[in-house]
Amino acid sequence: MLFSRHASMSAMKNITVFKEKLEAEKSTLEKELSDIARFNEETGLWEAMPDQDLVGEIDDNDAADRFEDFEERSAILSTLQARLTDVNAALKKIVDDTYGICEIGGEKIEADRLEANPAARTCKEHMNA
Ligand SMILES: [Zn+2]
Repeated sequence: MLFSRHASMSAMKNITVFKEKLEAEKSTLEKELSDIARFNEETGLWEAMPDQDLVGEIDDNDAADRFEDFEERSAILSTLQARLTDVNAALKKIVDDTYGICEIGGEKIEADRLEANPAARTCKEHMNA
């Protein structure tokens, strides 16, 4: 109700807010990835660092303890990488002016769903499709 009289203005303002959130999340994800992985320029993907490399790269004992084994780092890496892919896709949609459109049904994604997850690719109805 509150936004109904200024729907279009509010939508434009929201996109700026979502863009800022997405860019902030992207920085955080890349920072977390750089703790446990290195970016492969050829594949465009992050690769988990082998143990021997990690020891040399991380001075901080806390960081080393958090990611004790390679398998754990690989699992965290794939979660972060998947999230980063979604965030990048959402940022690209803002540029392409298709942000907030469900990838499956083409309808608008609910505002509260985007609030909860600015990188959402689908509306609530299609979120598990
Ligand atoms: Zn949908």
